[in-house]
Amino acid sequence: MINWLDIIKFANHGNPKPSRRILKTDAEWEAQLTPEQYRIARQHQTERAYTGAFCQLFEPALYGCVCCENWLFDSREKFESGTGWPSFTQPVTENAMQYRKDSSHGMNRIEVLCNVCDAHLGHIFPDGPMPSGLRYCINSAALRKVSTTALQTATFGGGCFWCTEAIFKALDGVESVTSGYSGGDVINPDYEQVKSGATGHAEVIQVIFDSHIIPYEDLVRIHLHTHNPTTLNRQGADVGTQYRSVIFYHSAEQKAMAENVLTEATADFDDPIVTALAPFVQFFKAEAHHQNFYVRNPDLPYCEVVITPKLQQLRVKYADKLKRLPELD
Ligand SMILES: [Zn+2]
Repeated sequence: MINWLDIIKFANHGNPKPSRRILKTDAEWEAQLTPEQYRIARQHQTERAYTGAFCQLFEPALYGCVCCENWLFDSREKFESGTGWPSFTQPVTENAMQYRKDSSHGMNRIEVLCNVCDAHLGHIFPDGPMPSGLRYCINSAALRKVSTTALQTATFGGGCFWCTEAIFKALDGVESVTSGYSGGDVINPDYEQVKSGATGHAEVIQVIFDSHIIPYEDLVRIHLHTHNPTTLNRQGADVGTQYRSVIFYHSAEQKAMAENVLTEATADFDDPIVTALAPFVQFFKAEAHHQNFYVRNPDLPYCEVVITPKLQQLRVKYADKLKRLPELD
């Protein structure tokens, strides 16, 4: 959870890295937006209190940036502030927005902008409800309700989750990747228990993705082609059932799609594919130091030797599926 100290830190020392960037000219934004949206989001103006469409709307929704649809807020974090502007107490992800010191109009405030396209959204104040104590004071005109129906979860095991996490994080349409354990018998196992092989869990990643941007079949294809699906309970030097190749499907549709891709992929491998297809039951998030492992430890020998080459391969083979990040260009 982000608090006021984090916001001050971001504004003073630099903002969290965005998941992608979208840059357009003013003329392009003007052509895409209504005059009111353009005036607020691109020219840093403020709408009049109580005039916005979302100021008193509290039904379940996800709110995105009006310019680029980057997800910003969940209605569960929305509250009635009595100010006449939509008010939220947390962003949907830590890197959804950027924060800049703003001394316009004789006030010292912190401006909130979209981290993907730099749209002006509003300002943030430390007088919101606990536990975060934050009040994001946002212009309705800078928001767009985003459909959440395209959002799905996928769960894959393909050996060490440090690798699979790094690969799936690079894909466009993938909103989040969490490393954890699935398919075993123990509730809330820890890494050491799973590593022993005794719990029956596989190291997996839980992927939240937008199926309008990247279909499930593509995720399965990329999964099969970025690990070795022909070695039973083994990935390179990592041996044990915790490293098994597995697809945990979340619906009958996912199962059918995975079956099709598995059949189609047999031609791509010399040896038979041993990837298991199993119904998803439960996911247990791994310890914090296993999350985002590659990004935090790129110089570790395992990362340099095993993960970096896999990412390079991914960039060549699936260039059109990757997020448009500067370091991937
Ligand atoms: Zn945006």
